[in-house]
Amino acid sequence: MNNSDVVVITGASGGIGAAIAKRLGRDKKRLVLAARRKAELHSIAEEAKKLGAPTVLEVPTDVTNRDDVNHLRDAAIAEFGRIDVWINNAGRGISKRTLDLTEEDVDDMIKVNLKSALYGMQAVIPHFIERGRGHVINISSFLARVPVASHRSVYSASKAALNSLTANVRMDLLAKHPDVHVSLIMPGVVHTDFAVNANTPDELRIDLPGRQGAAPTQTADEVADYVAGVMENPIAESYTNPASQDLARGYYSDVGAFEARVVQHFR
Ligand code: NDP
Repeated sequence: MNNSDVVVITGASGGIGAAIAKRLGRDKKRLVLAARRKAELHSIAEEAKKLGAPTVLEVPTDVTNRDDVNHLRDAAIAEFGRIDVWINNAGRGISKRTLDLTEEDVDDMIKVNLKSALYGMQAVIPHFIERGRGHVINISSFLARVPVASHRSVYSASKAALNSLTANVRMDLLAKHPDVHVSLIMPGVVHTDFAVNANTPDELRIDLPGRQGAAPTQTADEVADYVAGVMENPIAESYTNPASQDLARGYYSDVGAFEARVVQHFR
């Protein structure tokens, strides 16, 4: 990947997406930033330009709307002639235990965390196949693999479904289009507005100052650096937090025992 890369980032108006935009701005990438909030998107675009991005296109987008996502692809290609990397980062949480979920809650989570990325992949991968190269990066979550935060149950489920779609599209491409890459990134707890936007009550938040001991946390900038590394070296799946691999191993070695330890810890 080189400095002339054209990178589309969804959910770029805040949190991890904004941090990725700024990091890639520093790397002098040409950027296409998408999210719903125009003013926030504009301010991140301005920051990315100040940091070095030669051109930044802002495309107000609701990723739960397929037409919007197709328009995002078309706008990027109209401006730059091509797309090199597409980062499906937009997503949202919810703070409800399984027995309290409404049908609407479930539909919301599937729309914003699963269908959004499906629309993105279906929009851009034919373009990558035509060009013979390209890279999709899907931002999932550690909770997709280790669903131990009960108040995030359907969020975890939607991201687990994203993991499955991602793995299967990657395998479909492998034989015929080996230079079209699909990477899956699973952050742990990251300090952004995610918990606020998921209406998380304070007693359940482990990203508040003084609670960092409850789980290993990262900053959005750390995750952005990680994603920038994956852009250079595509990888099937990866956690961003060095502690996650061991936690996942512990979980899969004995799910029941792991769950009992979590329940005991938060009693
Ligand atoms: P934030 O809430 O800080 O940011 C979410 C971003 O997604 C915003 O830019 C928001 O923009 C955008 N977004 C939300 N809904 C839509 C929509 N319908 N259409 C377009 N954009 C949308 O969260 P994070 O930055 O923390 O989260 C980014 C990704 O990382 C998500 O996929 C999340 O699941 C994942 N993640 C986060 C973790 C964390 O602890 N923070 C941990 C693991 C994974 P706008 O409102 O302007 O549309």
